[in-house]
Amino acid sequence: MDYTVIRSRRRTIAVEITRNGEILVRAPLRLADREVKAFVERHRGWVDSKLARARQQPVQAAPRRFREGEMFLFLGMRCRLRFVAGGEYLRLENGEFLLGADLASRAGDLFRTWYRARAREVFEDRVAHFAPRMGLSCRAVRITDARGRWGSCSPSGTLNIAWRLVMAPPGVVDYVIVHELAHLVEMNHSRRFWDCVAGVLPDHRARRAWLRENEPSLDG
Ligand SMILES: [Zn+2]
Repeated sequence: MDYTVIRSRRRTIAVEITRNGEILVRAPLRLADREVKAFVERHRGWVDSKLARARQQPVQAAPRRFREGEMFLFLGMRCRLRFVAGGEYLRLENGEFLLGADLASRAGDLFRTWYRARAREVFEDRVAHFAPRMGLSCRAVRITDARGRWGSCSPSGTLNIAWRLVMAPPGVVDYVIVHELAHLVEMNHSRRFWDCVAGVLPDHRARRAWLRENEPSLDG
């Protein structure tokens, strides 16, 4: 477990989780490192549950700087960026994005490429899951760079979905996929269209509301 220790003249030790999902330990000046470690270990259950909750909070929209410790969303999980000396990759491992330290200047491109590739896998998988249940066939999924428009579909049966959507929780990804699939039968937002969506996702309203509220946090 990675944590930052802040020592001061305080007499007690305490652990807290910052808004960025980092673990902060406040300790007295002279407390031995192993005592600090033992304290954190003893509170591991509490720390893990706090971290899990922090990861579900939407990330505030902020310009990307691609610095160590910055949080990136993937399928609704908050994943911390960590640089790895000598690494020649960007990958997601145990909830952390690991990026080769020498690649930092190309981080923006690497993230975009990474997200696009994952978006393709996830969206194609979900289309293959829902299309047969809705009695539809979808010819192709096209990954777009659109901002502010999550999906669209063409009468020829192609779905266009923005790669940024792969930052959203799985239930929200499903909502956009089902919404666009339903447009293959109903090219409007009529009552029949929403009945078609509700037939597969009875709670579609809540998912849509989440998307509207959290849109800014998905603007990577
Ligand atoms: Zn629509």
